[in-house]
Amino acid sequence: MNKTFRRTKIIATLGPASESAEVLEKILCAGADVIRLNFSHGTADEHRARAERVREISAKLGRYVAILADLQGPKIRITRFKDNRKVTLQVGQKFDLDTALPPDAGDETQVGCSYEDLPRDVKAGDTLLLNDGLIELKVDSVIGTRVHCTVIIGGVLSNHKGINKQGGGLSAPALTDKDKEDLKTAVEIGADYLAISFPRSRTDMEEAQELLRQAGGNMGLVAKIERAEAILEGTIEGIIEASDAIMVARGDLGVEIGDARLPHVQKNLIRLARTYNKVAITATQMMESMISNPLPTRAEVSDVANAVFDGSDAVMLSAETASGDFPDRAVAAMARVCLEAEKYPRQPSNHRLHERFGRIDEAIALSAMYAANHLGVQAIGALTETGSTPLWMSRISSGIPIFALTSHEKTCRRVTLFRGVYPISFNEKGISDHAVLNRAIVEEFQKRGLVEESHRIILTKGDLTGRTGSTNALKIANIADILAAAPENWKDYCPGYQ
Ligand code: PGA
Ligand code: MN
Repeated sequence: MNKTFRRTKIIATLGPASESAEVLEKILCAGADVIRLNFSHGTADEHRARAERVREISAKLGRYVAILADLQGPKIRITRFKDNRKVTLQVGQKFDLDTALPPDAGDETQVGCSYEDLPRDVKAGDTLLLNDGLIELKVDSVIGTRVHCTVIIGGVLSNHKGINKQGGGLSAPALTDKDKEDLKTAVEIGADYLAISFPRSRTDMEEAQELLRQAGGNMGLVAKIERAEAILEGTIEGIIEASDAIMVARGDLGVEIGDARLPHVQKNLIRLARTYNKVAITATQMMESMISNPLPTRAEVSDVANAVFDGSDAVMLSAETASGDFPDRAVAAMARVCLEAEKYPRQPSNHRLHERFGRIDEAIALSAMYAANHLGVQAIGALTETGSTPLWMSRISSGIPIFALTSHEKTCRRVTLFRGVYPISFNEKGISDHAVLNRAIVEEFQKRGLVEESHRIILTKGDLTGRTGSTNALKIANIADILAAAPENWKDYCPGYQ
């Protein structure tokens, strides 16, 4: 292969620093594969306009780019301070949270909170963390609507900062009324993935799935793992089963479980997601210093590389691209670090090696990968309707690019999140002869400079084109043989080439 493909995908969050057509194009050219719309900020109209721009520019660049709509979820926040000022909390002072306080009446001694159940969910002795853990409060007592606290770590506090409870246990359901509205906007926009924030259990993901169905949306569901209770054994498996992907949302998760536990929790979550044939995203503060610096720190470089070693499908940029000073540089830095990290040899994959398969298509997908890894082939082509076959393939670590050949634009965009998978728009309809079909696929590879005559490839396909779950054949062949086997006038048998 003369081309080196970056296998780990990059998600870039759009915001004021990157929503212009010019910067968006730079970000895509620098390597962003998926664009995240963060519904914690901005209006429905703003998201609509951003989504349209993503579609326009990716079409102009001839690229498939997925849109990830990220719902705000029940992020619990303080309300506002009088005159929108900032207050400084001193260690040892008393500071109260009161759900009955008017929303803009905060001062040095108290502030409101819009989450009505807060007094019910906390008790004396609990630790509350404000502003991503920068401020720590100890709960002294709860009286009526008022949570009396003592400041353990002080600092500056301003409007709308988030509140987390150490160890978890805030009971708000994952989908708020705002989320339900935003979900409809995401459907209208034609987003490809929908991220649910703060799911507590499988039930929250199932509710999201049901709401999506009612709204007529067809999107991959991403569970953001950011609550202490979500990672409990028994719970996390259910969340993963009910989702298409998980996001290791290290911002909130780190506050709830403590920063020291994050690295091993990250590794376990990624491993678990892959075991369940699901996608894993590593997110938050990956290139944080690039919000204001043109280069990442060495620690950030190592963090991104380690996320690659852990097996992440994608790594994510938040404020770095949404509001930072160097949005396209942050993407470029991430891309070069991923590419280099992928050269480090990974453990041979034992994925599902000792398990029984229930499905023919999954057995074909995994057999293809074992053959590819043990035989040496330069490319894999999977004819696919929904993207399941290339997803299964990409659960097995390999350095071989997997091309998802599909006539569905939606599937082309969906697979951009999968590690090592790249979409090729391809319409097999009307091709009834396998030698002709193989030849047509090789034509697509050759057009893109992906294969040479001396190469060997693996193709997977079904006898019933256009039918989901019908993959039942695995072909291993030399390019030269595919070229020789097809009739000279093969294009006459391909409706797509006339
Ligand atoms: P957020 O989620 O950026 O929506 O807060 C990610 C995280 O908590 O890490
Ligand atoms: Mn979060």
